[in-house]
Amino acid sequence: MSVNQNPRQLVDGVFDALLPSHCLLCGARGHGAMGLCADCAAEMPRNDVCCARCALPLESPAPLCGRCLRREPPWAAAWVPFRYEWPLAQLESRFKFGGDLAAGHTLSRLWISSAKPADLPRAIVAVPLHRSRLRRRGYNQALELAKPLAKHLGVPLLRDALRRTRATHAQAELSAVQRRRNVRGAFSARFDDAPPEHVAVLDDVFTTGATLAECARVLKRAGVARVDVWAMARAPAH
Ligand SMILES: [Zn+2]
Ligand SMILES: [Zn+2]
Repeated sequence: MSVNQNPRQLVDGVFDALLPSHCLLCGARGHGAMGLCADCAAEMPRNDVCCARCALPLESPAPLCGRCLRREPPWAAAWVPFRYEWPLAQLESRFKFGGDLAAGHTLSRLWISSAKPADLPRAIVAVPLHRSRLRRRGYNQALELAKPLAKHLGVPLLRDALRRTRATHAQAELSAVQRRRNVRGAFSARFDDAPPEHVAVLDDVFTTGATLAECARVLKRAGVARVDVWAMARAPAH
């Protein structure tokens, strides 16, 4: 463990001490750290052929998708190892809306076991929840995925750098344009010291990218030179 590590990232996450004994998807017995049997693990939709800039799944390999060619996103690179499809989407909704921490633990193990980006950031920041939603849900699903990943990669997790200053509507019910409007001005960034030059902002699911884009803009305005976006899974369409 490097001596520069932020001691806060060593605080236990909600997944500690979870060791599922059955596959979370099919119920087959006797599965260890991942929480999935080999067959179900093999069904996970990997996002291997995708746009380097926004991780949009592509039919055939190409450096960038049409949308990124037309208009550059406010971040430099995306790391999104899975597509938001069955059966991963089932685990995600159990974790996010059903309080199923074992499903979150499995998602976390899947993410950790994915090939990591060559260019690691100096710090990771999770997309924050507004405190009213945090109170209802009890945990921030993005932060809980970020904790073990940051520990695994040896990259500090900055917990207070981004704040959600305004409660927003649930993005799921909104169109792409409404999502952009909904998150505009909803975040603020603050660093105790000089901002790290390269930060990854992390969310659980990348849907339209509106939330991640707004976070990237806010971090850059606060002085971060390069912002990458990380998410567990990428929805197929913008
Ligand atoms: Zn299974
Ligand atoms: Zn793209």
